[in-house]
Amino acid sequence: MNPAIIGGGYAGMAAAVSLAERGIPVTVFESARQLGGRARGVVHQNTQLDNGQHLLLGCYHQTLRLIEQVGGNLEQDFLRLPLQLDLHGEFSLRAPRLPAPLHLLVALLNAQGLPFGARLNAARFMLALRRMNFRLPCDMTVAELLAQHGQDAELAQKLWEPLCIAALNTPIHKASAQVLLNVLRDALNQSRADSDMLLPRVDFTALFPQRAANYIERHGGKVFTSCGVETIIPKDDGIELATAQGTEQFSHVICTAPPTVAAKLLHPISLLENTVAQIDSLEHQPIYTVYLRYPAHVRLPHPMLGLHRRFSQWLFDKGQIAGQHGLLAAVISAEGIHQELPQEQLAQRVIAELRAEFGIAEVPEWFKVIAEKRATFCCAPNLCRPPQQTALPGLLLAGDYTAGAYPATLEGAVLSGLRCASLISA
Ligand SMILES: Cc1cc2nc3c(=O)[nH]c(=O)nc-3n(C[C@H](O)[C@H](O)[C@H](O)COP(=O)(O)OP(=O)(O)OC[C@H]3O[C@@H](n4cnc5c(N)ncnc54)[C@H](O)[C@@H]3O)c2cc1C
Repeated sequence: MNPAIIGGGYAGMAAAVSLAERGIPVTVFESARQLGGRARGVVHQNTQLDNGQHLLLGCYHQTLRLIEQVGGNLEQDFLRLPLQLDLHGEFSLRAPRLPAPLHLLVALLNAQGLPFGARLNAARFMLALRRMNFRLPCDMTVAELLAQHGQDAELAQKLWEPLCIAALNTPIHKASAQVLLNVLRDALNQSRADSDMLLPRVDFTALFPQRAANYIERHGGKVFTSCGVETIIPKDDGIELATAQGTEQFSHVICTAPPTVAAKLLHPISLLENTVAQIDSLEHQPIYTVYLRYPAHVRLPHPMLGLHRRFSQWLFDKGQIAGQHGLLAAVISAEGIHQELPQEQLAQRVIAELRAEFGIAEVPEWFKVIAEKRATFCCAPNLCRPPQQTALPGLLLAGDYTAGAYPATLEGAVLSGLRCASLISA
């Protein structure tokens, strides 16, 4: 058996580590110069950034397990915070150190910035979801589910909407209620540590993909960067991959390229017409990250906090998270009017918000806007995501957009990669 993997993002490297662990030598082809895909490190003005500020949850068990397996140390690699939702000056919820789900119920009932009736309503809603085992008889939008359970506009805007956008990167009137419940079930309902928020202290290429590449090479595999796959050619006894360096035949291929690239690579294979149609039907949602380099003494009141009804949805203080003092990141997820602004103007809006909310009068030395227009698929209700197994024997699909319970997240990507590895080794 000699499987190949197209793409060295989190899905591809998870699949590769899992195969290597089983003693199967694997070859990874990554088109970019570095590994990590949408979660990769980026250097700007001699400063280590990420392609976008990311956050992991304690319930991302497989991602965290793999990081440790390839040599990471979770204590050192992450700033781990107990569940908290802080919309500066408007709303604040903090989970006490109690067993789940009591920690959440106490947090909801004691939240600041909502009348007691609304907090009680939110706690009742969580109890109702628990009674339903977080399963809906039929999927609907998050907005519809909230309306069914009497969650009023203020409660939706301060609590459920920020949670939904952070988890699904999709606005509540478009987002799948069932997928949100899958995340809430795993994050909030089991162990308290599952709801912890983990902010990486190292960049996303170093955190897992680069360590995974070293692990794969130590286990007899190969990882090629700057080596994009141009064509997938089905053969009688395997699958051939063509790159600029030549062609090579493999027993199995896992394609983990992002959806638009995967559709192009699969398009010439007539057996995969339905898969390509499924991929083409996915819509996408953007994420913008605005990095700002302030003088080192500038800091936020918390490592991570949100703003209510502002352009900047979440702010991260990289000084408190990773020792990069004065470096702030503002994240704007999902579609919105921010997409209409030129990058310079968007950055100026964020700077004005930081001045108005926290009195940061200094002018940043530089800013960098990273606009990922197709950051994730739009996580709509009843979405038909392509399964990992395809109609072409030996060809599998992994990636955050493939079938699974999770929205487009690192854990969703990793789970899809692990599933492909299990299918191959079985
Ligand atoms: C700005 C931003 C913020 C995000 N925030 C979070 C967050 O906080 N928490 C979270 O869990 N998730 C977050 N996500 C989502 C998360 O990053 C993705 O779900 C995950 O990285 C997807 O991994 P993947 O391996 O499926 O795909 P990708 O990361 O897209 O990997 C695919 C790889 O294939 C390579 N490739 C493409 N074409 C070829 C080819 N022809 N040959 C070889 N290689 C090829 C690409 O270069 C890439 O490396 C965020 C995403 C973005 C963009």
